[in-house]
This record gives sequence, C-alpha cells and structure tokens, in this order.
Amino acid sequence: MQGVELNCPEIEIGALSATGHPDHVIRAEAIHDLLTGKYGAHPHGIRVRYARIIGSTPKGAPDPSFEFNGLKTPVGLKLERCVLNHPILAHDAHFPWLHLDSCRIPYFQADRIRVDGSVYMRGLTTTRSNEQGAVRLLGAYIGRNLELDRANIRNTFGPAFHAEGIQVDRSLRFRAARIYSDHNTGAIQLVNAHVHGDLWLDGTSVRNDLGPALNAEGIRVEGSLLLCAGFVATACSEELATVHLMSAQIGSRLDFGTGREITGDLWDASRGQERRLFPRRTAAISNKLVNESGSRLTIDLSCASMNELRLPTQTVCEPEKRYLRANKCSSKSKIIVTGLAYSMLSQESVHPYWPHWLRRHMNHFDGEPYRHLATIFQNSGRTVEARRLLIRLENDRRKANKAQNLWSWLARWPWHIVKRSLIGHGYRPGRALLGILGIFMFATFMLLKTSAGDTIHKPAMRIEGTIVPATSSLSSAPKTPASFITPSTSPSPSANVVTFTNPASRSDGCSKGEAIRLAADISVPLINTNARLRCDFRPGSPTGFAIVALLLHVLGWLFATLFVVGVTGIARKD
Ligand SMILES: [Zn+2]
Repeated sequence: MQGVELNCPEIEIGALSATGHPDHVIRAEAIHDLLTGKYGAHPHGIRVRYARIIGSTPKGAPDPSFEFNGLKTPVGLKLERCVLNHPILAHDAHFPWLHLDSCRIPYFQADRIRVDGSVYMRGLTTTRSNEQGAVRLLGAYIGRNLELDRANIRNTFGPAFHAEGIQVDRSLRFRAARIYSDHNTGAIQLVNAHVHGDLWLDGTSVRNDLGPALNAEGIRVEGSLLLCAGFVATACSEELATVHLMSAQIGSRLDFGTGREITGDLWDASRGQERRLFPRRTAAISNKLVNESGSRLTIDLSCASMNELRLPTQTVCEPEKRYLRANKCSSKSKIIVTGLAYSMLSQESVHPYWPHWLRRHMNHFDGEPYRHLATIFQNSGRTVEARRLLIRLENDRRKANKAQNLWSWLARWPWHIVKRSLIGHGYRPGRALLGILGIFMFATFMLLKTSAGDTIHKPAMRIEGTIVPATSSLSSAPKTPASFITPSTSPSPSANVVTFTNPASRSDGCSKGEAIRLAADISVPLINTNARLRCDFRPGSPTGFAIVALLLHVLGWLFATLFVVGVTGIARKD
C-alpha cells in the first residue's frame, strides 16, 4: 500500500453519504493503522478521495468518534470529498499536515493539536451540533496556513468555530464561508489567537442567534484583518458586539471595506480544487453588520490598535446628506471606539460622517475618539477638519452632560455660549482679536462722528508744579495741550496744582487722529497712548456716551481675556 493514492470512483457527495458500496467504504481503523505506521508509511502521507469512512459503534458508547487523541504520526492525512459517519477527535495529536477538503464530518475537535504544515478544511461541512464546538481548535498550533474557504459550519448547541488561543504561523482564511451558531460567546471565537499573517473573512456570512458573530477579543494579527467584500455578520448579543475586537492588535490594516468581488485563489468545492478568481465589473459588494438585540452594538474596537483603519460609511451609518445636519440615521447600530488607536485612515474612510458617528453611534460618549481622530486629521494636514471636530467635541460634551438642575444649567450654559461663539471653545482664539478690532472700529466711528461736536474736546490743561501766574496763564496758555512742568523743590502741598479750563467753544474739537487714539485707549486693553491728555469727553456731554465708552472698555477687556484663555489652552481643558 505504500505510495499508493486511493482514489475511489467519483460519486456525488449526497450519494456517498448513503452508499454501502465496497468501492467507497473504508473502515476508520484502517486509516488509524496507517497513520500509526502499522503497515509502514509513505512520506507523501495518506490520501483518500470519494470514500465513506465508517467506524463501528461500540455498545453503550454515547457518542462514538474517530479518535486520534495524542497520536503523533510521521505522515500527513488528506481526506478529500469524503463522508465520515463519526466525528473526529484529535486532542493533543501531532500531524505533519492535515487536509479535510470538501468533507462531511459531524464535527471536528482537536484541542492543542500541533500541525507543522497547513490545515485545510476548505469546503468542509459539519453535520452535527455539539456544545463543545463544530470545529474546535483550542490552543492549537498550525505551522503554516489554516484555511476554511467555502466551509459550511453549523452548530445549534455551541460555537461553530472555537479556536481560543490558536497560533497560526501564516494566514487564517474563512473566505466565502457560511457559519451559523446558537451560542452566547460567539459563532467564530478567536479570543487571544495569534495569526502571523493575514486573517481573511471576506465574503463570509456569519450568523449567531444567541451571541456575537465574531468574538476575537485580544487577538493579535501581524498582517491585516479583512472583514470586507460582502462580509455579512448577524448577531443577537446584548453584551458583546456583532464583531467583538476588544484589545485586538492588528499590525497592518483592519478592513471593513466594500469590494468588487472576491479575487485571488479560492477553493472551489464543486471542482475540488483551488480556482483563481479575477476581478469583474460588478457593483461594489457592501458589508452588513447587524445586532438584533436591543443593544444594537455592532462593532467593539475598544483599546484595539492597528496601523490603518478602513471603515467606509456603509459599515456604521450613511444618512442622506440632507439628513446629516438633522442627525437622522440610516442605521441604529452602535459602536465602541474608546481607546481605539490607528495611525491612518484609508482614503474611503475619510468622510464627513465621522462626527455623526461619534455623536450618534458611540455606545457611550467619550472625548478620546474625537481627539484621536483630530490628531489623525492634523497629521495629514487637515487642520481645518481637526479644529472643527474638536469644537464639535465640546458641543457634544455639553449635550451629553446634561444639567441636573437650574443652578447647574446656569453655571454651565453662559460660559459654554461665550466660549463657543467668541473663541470656538479655545480652538479659534482669533475670533477674540476680531472682536477687539470690531470694538475699536465701532469706537473710532463713534468718536469721529462726534469729534467736531459737543461730545469730545481738548480737555483742560492740568499743570503740576509751580503755580503759573493767572494773568499769564489764561492769556498765554498754549492752544495745544500743555506738557508737565517739573515740581518745585519746596512746593506748597496745597497750592502746587492748578487747573486751567479752556473756554468752551466749538473751536476746541479733537482732530481725527486724536479721536482715533482715544478710541484705541477706550477699546483696546493694555494700549495707552495718553490720548486723553489731548482729547477727552467734554464735561456735561450726554451720559449715554460715557456709558457706551465704559461698555466698550469692558468688552475690550472681555475679548482680551478670552483671547488669552484660548491661546493658553485653558478653555480646552476638560
Ligand atoms: Zn446615524
């Protein structure tokens, strides 16, 4: 038998399940004996096609199975298009390689199995439910690839694919597979798995009526995690998301993108071989993520990290643009992105829906995802979008933290309005400078209009020091404002100051330059041109002007203070 490939006559897989023809029936014990080297073993391994592999059912055995537990075989096993009437158990076994392409097996369980080469279960169909899992590979080690392309795995009592802690040295593929489960911890479970290459689930349909579709908490994927090109996941889970990737570490890209069609090499169950698929001109195939429970939680990326995130609009919510402002949603899905770290967004993932998602689709409000996205925008030169997002964050924060009572509302609301409108919550401090400029222009306009009137005039001279004789002072007082005179060495405390009042007349009006300087002194804080020595409000001028001047002065200081608050970042602190 050494070196011979046993090819039974071709037969349809449905007919094979029921046949008792000796050309197709092989006893499992024979395969076991071959694997253990009872008849010698060929280095190419054992390869069987179109066989119905049966085993005797011991009396009283509750669940008969083909047991390879603890088996360490020097040769690989390939069963292709075979039907097995009992499940395979291979816990702690060691194979060089293992292929179960297009086979029908009740279920396959191999905790801690070690396979030096690849494990192929392409086109595999499981036929019996088991609470431990239809395909179970807990703590397994696969030296090359693990492929389940076009597999049809169904389990109504437990997880469909349970591989917690598995290590795959190359890629793990579920391309175009069909997975169904009724289990609260996940249809596909890859908790704490470690995949050195890519993890493919493109074009795969996963459904779980009691829990999440994909539970891969703590997974490490050195390459990319591809949930794209028609990946459809339906879950019914209150606690976990449809796609649960909490604390996942992805070296390259997390891809929820659409795709034209699955391309590349894909197992063709009808031909029993891999077939190269080429891209065709078809409409883009969208993903669909649904959580039918009340939580509506579809994606959990809390504390996950990756280099590139590809999350196009259809994945979460894509309201019509006319509804975007009104925050009307096209989906009720919720996402968790707290602690999500990514270095870049793919081109199709940079879209105007992000603020909408963060406001309406996050499970709980958190400012950290806003800030991280703003950093990404900033690093890619989108400073305007980054600033806009951070302003949105402050507005959303106020909406999320609703005031509990009137006093709390009064304490927050006015400051929020001032910050928002005057300095953009500290991200647009230039608005405050514009405000000061506006006040200055208003003051200038007001004073220029009144410079020739009764409102402002050249004020009385105030001379300190030696008293100037009244006869000479009034007659020879300069028409321009006087300069200060140095006090005498022994002044009389009560008589060293005297005020001269210019005669009230229309001719003592201020010039335009003096009016502008006075406007600057009034409206621009920290600027003092001493304009009031040359031009000031006339005593007895209408009270309204004094009030307006005071108001402009206060506003100027308010804007200046807000500018400082904005520039120093005080307004941006939580
Ligand atoms: Zn929405």
